[in-house]
Amino acid sequence: MRVEVVKCPFCKQKLGLLEYVVVGNLVVCANVKCGTSLRVTSRRPARVEVVPEPDTYSVDYRPESYG
Ligand SMILES: [Zn+2]
Repeated sequence: MRVEVVKCPFCKQKLGLLEYVVVGNLVVCANVKCGTSLRVTSRRPARVEVVPEPDTYSVDYRPESYG
């Protein structure tokens, strides 16, 4: 299956977008310390943009590996 690689705009993690992922789909950054929701805005070339999270989603999130 063909995979297009994009970079997370936040952390530069490389992400593989499978063929069936189309414009408008949401993907989540593969970097567990990032986990940013991304919306596919273009294919060939593939592009993604950061989806603003609702405040309630991330307010209690604390990465355990920091501090
Ligand atoms: Zn990321």
